[in-house]
Amino acid sequence: MLTRVLSATLIGLKPQLIEVEVDAIQGTPQFIIIGLASKAVDEAKERITAALLNCGVRIKARRTIVNLAPADLQKSGSTLELAIAAGLLQLYGEIAPLPDNCLLVGELSLDGELKPVRGCLPLVLAAKEFGMTEVILPTANLPEVGFLESVTLRPIRNLRQLLDVGGNITKLTPHPTQPLKLAKNKTNTDFASIIGQVAAKRALEIAVAGNHNIHLVGPPGAGKSMLAQAAISILPPLSLDESIAVTMIHSVAGLTTQAGVVITRPFRAPHHTTTAVGLTGGSTQLLPGEISLAHHGVLFLDEFPEFSRTALEALRQPLETKMVTITRSTGTTQYPANCMLIAASNPCLCGYWGSSKPCRCTLRERDRYQNKLSGPLLDRIDVHVRVGAVSHKQLATTTKPGECSKKIRERVAAARKIQRNRLAKTSATTNGDLDGKETKQYCRLRDDAKDILVLAGEKLGLSARSHFKVLKVAQTIADLTAESVITTEHITEALQYRPEQNG
Ligand SMILES: [Zn+2]
Repeated sequence: MLTRVLSATLIGLKPQLIEVEVDAIQGTPQFIIIGLASKAVDEAKERITAALLNCGVRIKARRTIVNLAPADLQKSGSTLELAIAAGLLQLYGEIAPLPDNCLLVGELSLDGELKPVRGCLPLVLAAKEFGMTEVILPTANLPEVGFLESVTLRPIRNLRQLLDVGGNITKLTPHPTQPLKLAKNKTNTDFASIIGQVAAKRALEIAVAGNHNIHLVGPPGAGKSMLAQAAISILPPLSLDESIAVTMIHSVAGLTTQAGVVITRPFRAPHHTTTAVGLTGGSTQLLPGEISLAHHGVLFLDEFPEFSRTALEALRQPLETKMVTITRSTGTTQYPANCMLIAASNPCLCGYWGSSKPCRCTLRERDRYQNKLSGPLLDRIDVHVRVGAVSHKQLATTTKPGECSKKIRERVAAARKIQRNRLAKTSATTNGDLDGKETKQYCRLRDDAKDILVLAGEKLGLSARSHFKVLKVAQTIADLTAESVITTEHITEALQYRPEQNG
């Protein structure tokens, strides 16, 4: 007698309902899984056999066939193991048929224990869309999905629990929903604790307020990493929707099984040896990259020019579109990547060009170092700022702390509110970026500010892209003081944030 159990798997971030059909027929005793199962699913046979055996159930000496439908879809991952085992238990009459509104996800260990699965949050969220009202899942996945109200969650630790209730899932204790508590962003660095660096702090405030990417250039030890970490402290806390969106991506990457829901803005700081796949995502399992893991947070790339050329070029498109599309033989998926990039680099190979210490580089070395960053990549960054080393005198004599992060965060929040209201009136996409035409339409300049911009454009030979970038940054500067028109001061300040090298 054929049995049917429902489960789900992920293709990147996209959940897919899977019907697990199990049947046993006369023939050579064999246990086979069909329906484009990847090697990982194929290996599941051994785990399922052992897990059942440890629950006192032996696979019958018949030809046992497990069919995973739809068959044209490559299935990877181990989320289907619990459903396959349940299908076998039904087939052998050990448990009653499970209801149609019940989704099973879970990976089995050899002793029948349930292990947490990657991507549990997107799977459980999709359960309702699939018309399910009950989800049986590993208890270990609860930290990540325990707040959901859309379906009844019935966590189990061991396959034996399903056997003990004879498949009557209502006897499995439902998990009481726990409301999600969002938290303040985690950082040990407050703006008040950073001595000096007035220009860099100001540039960071503007960058955070307008969600502009920022490039910090300065000698080693000037405090670029500290400034990047402080950026998190002036970002507003995550909203519930943002928290869920971020957790989904982290869940697919397998980062949430211990950490649970991501309740603070992510701060990702991959090492400069990270590859293009590491940064933007990939592999046969279509896993997200650092730029997606930093969604709604900060991606900090220290030693920016030291990243490989291919890795840096791979960032160009996602920085522009705030999305990453990954295509592999196993499928295609998209991940959001709306993060703020903070790049940090030395001004030259030795690190001291333009600082108080003498630079030891030759002109050629300096050129080669700076040319590692291509023009189009630097074009994706709106704010470029020099971070100077703080003098010993300043370190020794500064007693009054600077402005604290809380105050700056309030200004940022107010500016972002103005931007949201303005965006609501536009047809711009939700990533909050205006293109050239829209920038022109929605940024209101005073006449003298317009003259300055035209003059600067001619004198400095600004490209059209640079022109609009200056305008966008000037708009953010105006928003920070809630001014409705852009003035000459805003334009002149914005002009300072252009890259040093290619004007
Ligand atoms: Zn140098």
